[in-house]
Amino acid sequence: MAVVETVRGPVELGSLGQTLMHEHVFVLSTEHVQNYGSDWWDEEFRVADAIAKLNALYDKGVHTIVDPTVWGLGRYIPRMQRIAAQTPVNIIVAAGLYVYEELPQQYAYRGPGLMLDIPEPMVTDFSRDITEGIAGTAVKAAFLKCALETPEPSPGVERIARAVARAHVETGAPITVHTSGPHQTGRTAVRIFAEEGVDLTKVVIGHAGDSNDLDYLTELADTGVLLGMDRFGLDVFNPGTERVKTIALMAGRGYAGSMVLAHDANCFIDYFGGAHDAARPVALPNWHYEHITDDVLPALLRYGVTQAQIDTMMIENPVRYFTRKAS
Ligand SMILES: [Zn+2]
Repeated sequence: MAVVETVRGPVELGSLGQTLMHEHVFVLSTEHVQNYGSDWWDEEFRVADAIAKLNALYDKGVHTIVDPTVWGLGRYIPRMQRIAAQTPVNIIVAAGLYVYEELPQQYAYRGPGLMLDIPEPMVTDFSRDITEGIAGTAVKAAFLKCALETPEPSPGVERIARAVARAHVETGAPITVHTSGPHQTGRTAVRIFAEEGVDLTKVVIGHAGDSNDLDYLTELADTGVLLGMDRFGLDVFNPGTERVKTIALMAGRGYAGSMVLAHDANCFIDYFGGAHDAARPVALPNWHYEHITDDVLPALLRYGVTQAQIDTMMIENPVRYFTRKAS
């Protein structure tokens, strides 16, 4: 029986159903909250709110979310366990590190050739999250996450990407990498991962859908990776109509098997601070879990994408991504 780890434990791949491949529950800096969040962070309110939003999503037919919230975005598994216990939505969590520029000091002096000369501690940490569980919980990460935002990654960011690649080679867990559409850093990701012997069919190039450059997207897809068409509702990076058109054109070229869908949304993000609830619906009215079901899928159908192609992107591609090769 092929399974994937979720917050509630292993789930049969065949039962994932419609899957959003890049959604956060919370994006939250622990240090920020502990020092400046007392007037806006209400743990009980936010947990209840997340459960309600996930249950509403389930009622719309989406039964699984893939949550790449790692260190740098506020991963905290005990809170996720409380939420997962009260919603039927499968929540798949990640190991890895999300930074754009600077390696955290906690890894700067430990590693091969460094002051504390030990095997790469990121590989040790990420692999343990996948094979044993995260932070003493029984919850296992099912995929890896890192970020390549700038055209020339800093040495620290490149070290993270290579550690993620090596943890993938060690464990077989797939990878989701944040990339920049404008800087087309999906190419950087493919280069680094290929150098490290990553199975590129197990890689999602996150935020590829911020780009409408069909040559770029086709070049990436031809390497075997999946394209993350995953920021619906974030019109500031690429308007929704453009995102829909690009998917329709790529599907028309035969690439439905190379795309996955999501919003990169969340129930709460501390980037807005205390203004979150007031500012967000005005600034980003479509940035929520139900936009794809309500608006994007009907638009894709209008643009000639077939229901079979939608099922490929929302059901079959996620299953293939999480299917481990027999070792
Ligand atoms: Zn994200």
